[in-house]
Amino acid sequence: MIDLHAHTRRSDGTDTPRELMERARDAGLTVLGLTDHDTCAGWEEAAEAVRDTGVALVRGMELTCRHAGRTVHLLGYLFNPDHPAIGAHMDRLIAARHLRIVNMAEALIADGLIAPTDLDLDSPALGRPHIADALVRAGQVADRPEAFATYIHPTSRYHRPLPAPSLAETITTIHDAGGAAVWAHPRAKRHGQHSFDAIREGLSFGLDGLEIDHRDNSSADREKLETLAQAYGVLKTGASDYHGSGKPNELGENCTSEEVLGALTERTELEVIYP
Ligand code: AMP
Ligand code: FE
Ligand code: FE
Ligand code: ZN
Repeated sequence: MIDLHAHTRRSDGTDTPRELMERARDAGLTVLGLTDHDTCAGWEEAAEAVRDTGVALVRGMELTCRHAGRTVHLLGYLFNPDHPAIGAHMDRLIAARHLRIVNMAEALIADGLIAPTDLDLDSPALGRPHIADALVRAGQVADRPEAFATYIHPTSRYHRPLPAPSLAETITTIHDAGGAAVWAHPRAKRHGQHSFDAIREGLSFGLDGLEIDHRDNSSADREKLETLAQAYGVLKTGASDYHGSGKPNELGENCTSEEVLGALTERTELEVIYP
């Protein structure tokens, strides 16, 4: 079983990279893709756990970008993290994430909804889940989903947008750094749902694949996405998007075939780390 999309505490998951690898083993996975938001900070610790757990590691990242007026999450796989283009790209994203979350936190503190001690801003890739956790600690909401439906919803006065580079530019950056680019959960509604026209345009920018088997794509959407993937000759992946206890997604609930992983690695600079 190959699951190519999962998060750790280095972004907005709740496990350490080693814990994630152990859970991947317990879930019966043979290959895990580590794809924290906008950071490679978990790669080294996860790689160190490959031998102990027997789980192979695909080093990846879920890059935030913009397309057709909405957010896109783009999975970048097996690129060289030392390539200057991707380094500068990550630095910009991480700085924007930090500034945005500090702004949101300040507004909530000013209105007495959270205290500075409720905040844990340790993660290199800060996002709304970190504000959600502070709201839980402060007793304002029961869990992350409730926070997302209220205080940190895009319509809330405490919400701030996250500026991000374009999809086209981000695909080019991943390719320049020797990686493969896959549009994550293309029909998810969390950031406003993308039209199939917008997805077709993304395909014309040179995507390597679409993450079709994902709980946020309905079965009707998956059928249409498969037709598109065939028409454009791109790969079809599937994955859980596991976030630890921060989301209900379970490791291995959707998977990618060995053939697709093989085709993916044929075009990338880095290789899968096998035990
Ligand atoms: P941000 O990128 O800061 O806007 O936050 C979006 C992140 O929050 C995504 O990576 C999701 O993993 C997470 N997220 C979105 N909606 C929810 C929800 N209802 N419950 C838990 N986590 C969520
Ligand atoms: Fe996330
Ligand atoms: Fe995502
Ligand atoms: Zn994700």
